[in-house]
Amino acid sequence: MTEPKVTTTPAQPRPGLSTRCVHAGDVRDPQGAIHPPLYGHSTFAFNSTADLLDVVEGRTEGNLYTRYGLNPTIRALERKLADLEDAETALAFGSGMAAEAATFLSHIKTGEHIVCLGDVYGGTFELLGENLPRLGIETTFLTAGEVDRLPDVLTDRTRIVFFETPSNPGLDVFDIAAITTHAHQVGALVVVDNTFATPVNQNPLHHGADLVIHSATKYLGGHSDLTAGAVAGPAELLAPIAGWRKNLGQVIAPEIASLLARSIRTLVVRVRAQNTAATAVAEFLADHSRVAKVNHPSLAAGDQAAVVKAQMRGHGGMLSFLVDGDAAATAAVVDRLRVFSIAASLGGAESLVTQPITTTHHGLDPAERARRGIADSMVRLSVGLEDADDLIADLAQALDGTVVPSGG
Ligand SMILES: *Cc1c(COP(=O)(O)O)cnc(C)c1O
Repeated sequence: MTEPKVTTTPAQPRPGLSTRCVHAGDVRDPQGAIHPPLYGHSTFAFNSTADLLDVVEGRTEGNLYTRYGLNPTIRALERKLADLEDAETALAFGSGMAAEAATFLSHIKTGEHIVCLGDVYGGTFELLGENLPRLGIETTFLTAGEVDRLPDVLTDRTRIVFFETPSNPGLDVFDIAAITTHAHQVGALVVVDNTFATPVNQNPLHHGADLVIHSATKYLGGHSDLTAGAVAGPAELLAPIAGWRKNLGQVIAPEIASLLARSIRTLVVRVRAQNTAATAVAEFLADHSRVAKVNHPSLAAGDQAAVVKAQMRGHGGMLSFLVDGDAAATAAVVDRLRVFSIAASLGGAESLVTQPITTTHHGLDPAERARRGIADSMVRLSVGLEDADDLIADLAQALDGTVVPSGG
């Protein structure tokens, strides 16, 4: 059982990103279906024992058992993910946290060390700060303001430097190339969570990162109706991760893989619309008298602006801002919003709003939150696909405190 011919072959000039989102990784279906069909099957049959052994012993790439990832629907998705991140290969998972956990477990062992830069997803804080220490794997956390201390905290036991850029919820941007130079001096891998930027706005591997991680639950899925994750990079680094994924049973379900590949076909149009709307929203907020500060890569200044220009092609649909008021006044603003829904998560068609202290960073110690600048008055927005004018009008009435009838 060999794989049918991939429709975009390396011999042709490289198609553009939109074309690759639609077509990359797809194979011509024997029945003529316009894109790869869903094979939800758990197992696959062989014509002979010799054929089976060819797959088991790795001589041919075939379908065998879905938990191993040896399923045509999962493989088609993984070819698409690898293509979008310009990686040799990719692995798809049941969630972003599954992808992170397998990456850490397969590349770090007891007694070794991780450095985590800046703000990260709440689940990542727990994994690195609570779960992995039980296995004797320690993490040093540096805040965004402490990143210049990176060379001091790297040791010969440091195996991974991990960060998000832009980060959650402060939208700090980190210089991937500069961090990579330091990390590689001690032989550590650089792992970048590219969930916020998406491959439309940024490809960390182009700037020296070794591995890229996604919570595909967010922009790649794009419709708040699936949970999935991915890691992309060189085959040599992904092979041990595939082994952990297999034995921890973390593979993506084929049904979700098919849905995710469907969503990725519209990734470029969605993310570019969100880039534009979020930039308009950021400009509106920056001029508002009840807003103390706005965080969005489009507003970056000085060194941050230079890094944004060097490594990002778009500014993303995520932003955060500080209300001029306390936690209760901020909650009142959030509660007056009508177009934005109060919800954790991000990256979907519907605009979402959250106060990080109530959701994503609720578990973090208040002193640690303060140290990281995650203020009680911080509001995080995930700009969806509604008209920017409607989002701005909604924010205006919420900040001004005059509730307008919701009307539809
Ligand atoms: C949501 C998120 C994760 C975790 O992903 P799940 O799919 O929920 O497991 C990791 N990193 C970032 C930046 C996220 O936003």
